[in-house]
Amino acid sequence: MTDTPIPLRAARAPRDTNAAGLEPLAVLPVFVPLRGKRVVLAGSSGGAPWKVKVLAAAGARVDVYAPEPGEELRAVPAEVVDGHVTLHERAWTPDDLWGAAFCVGAMEDETDAVAFVAAARGAGAIVNAVDRPHLCDVKFGAIVNRSPLVVGISTEGAAPVFGQTVRARIEAMLPRGFARWVAAARDWRGRVTGRFHGFAERRVFWERFTDRAFAEPDRAPGEADLAELLGETEAAPKGGAVTLVGAGPGDAELLTLKALRSLRNADVILYDDLVAPEILDYARREARTMLVGKTGHGPSCRQDDINALMVQLARSGKQVVRLKSGDPLVFGRAGEEIEACRVAGVPVTVVPGVSAAQGAAASLGLSLTHRDAARRLQYVTGHDRRGALPDDLNWGALADPSVTTVVYMPKRTLRALLARAVAEGLAPSTPALLVFNATRPSQQAVRGTAANLADRVEAAGLDGPALLMVGTVFAEAAEVAREAPARVAI
Ligand code: SAH
Repeated sequence: MTDTPIPLRAARAPRDTNAAGLEPLAVLPVFVPLRGKRVVLAGSSGGAPWKVKVLAAAGARVDVYAPEPGEELRAVPAEVVDGHVTLHERAWTPDDLWGAAFCVGAMEDETDAVAFVAAARGAGAIVNAVDRPHLCDVKFGAIVNRSPLVVGISTEGAAPVFGQTVRARIEAMLPRGFARWVAAARDWRGRVTGRFHGFAERRVFWERFTDRAFAEPDRAPGEADLAELLGETEAAPKGGAVTLVGAGPGDAELLTLKALRSLRNADVILYDDLVAPEILDYARREARTMLVGKTGHGPSCRQDDINALMVQLARSGKQVVRLKSGDPLVFGRAGEEIEACRVAGVPVTVVPGVSAAQGAAASLGLSLTHRDAARRLQYVTGHDRRGALPDDLNWGALADPSVTTVVYMPKRTLRALLARAVAEGLAPSTPALLVFNATRPSQQAVRGTAANLADRVEAAGLDGPALLMVGTVFAEAAEVAREAPARVAI
């Protein structure tokens, strides 16, 4: 490691990245409206009664053809809560299938099932065959019913018990009252659309509506809610805005509730390389995500370009989230971004995040200001604009025996920084550690002292964003290091 200035980085342009969360799908979940439609179920195998009930619950007119229905199937027509079921105690014929939107084969005999499926396809119906996945156009999943809110769950046959457990968990998570709120949404949709012509305003309304549903799921929503929500939406600020959001050091669970809400509201998210990819999963799927790459190394987008893009998007009416690693106001050049918005008259707010130092300290389980060891806590940058060791660091402050120092961006100048601090009076035995990938599954730390940490770091050959932490408060961490090899997983 040297303190040679790093050549200026080649600029790179902001670029759109994939919408969050698009991974290969074992199966495509789609939802089939069946209200008022004709459905045929033939046969009486074990799964038949439940299937008939579900189809009827979806509002279908179900014709069941079963020469020898059991007790359970016979009882179904009287038990259904919606739709209509007619039981025909005879075998199916191809003529029975005309006009059916959906056909379910529930017969024991494979040849009969194959013939049924062929006839049903010929009649233009969607086909399912109970326990015969090879004959199915579509398959039934597990259901969580808060109608009109409906959740379908599939493991694509891989793990039915797992699927059932997931279903039970979702059941427990979704209050029954959601059914009333979603039904109210359906009933109010026309009035809301009539009142607000812009998409952005309607979105504000529905976000507030959803917040209320989550806050008071068991209360039935009424006209008073509608009136209040319409009023609140009218009063809400219009037009685009920028929110600087702290993404934290990596672990998505460290996001604040406000950060989550901002991500959910964003039309566009401009994010840095250091933002952990799983954080973007919390964005709306329709949101545009753009990598405006600013790492410590490699090509970066120019700050001016980022500022201009942010302002331009907000002026075109977008809710822009500028997603920055850690806390936006700690070594994040947020000052320039806030200033650019203010100059352009674009509303800008900041949502704080967990800074890398807090994340690392929490993982270590060590107080940064333990009163026996530290009187002061300081955050210091490891490099200046050119990437070199800053000349104007307060070396006296770094040498102070009762200070805890956290150095951001320390990797390139680590050796020079520690050597200079020791030369300026820092005890060479002061505990020091370099924490890589704090709060991420790949987190690792190299522990040592001000005198030997740089060598140990070089020997360990670790990769990823890192923080240098120096001070007597880390003695406990260094204690472990004496017994264990230099490279220690926290
Ligand atoms: N605003 C950020 C800091 C951005 S500067 C914050 O508050 O954390 C970028 C530097 O932050 C990196 O060079 C590294 O020193 C540090 N950093 C960010 N994420 C980190 C992580 N998960 N582990 C260790 N250091 C991290």
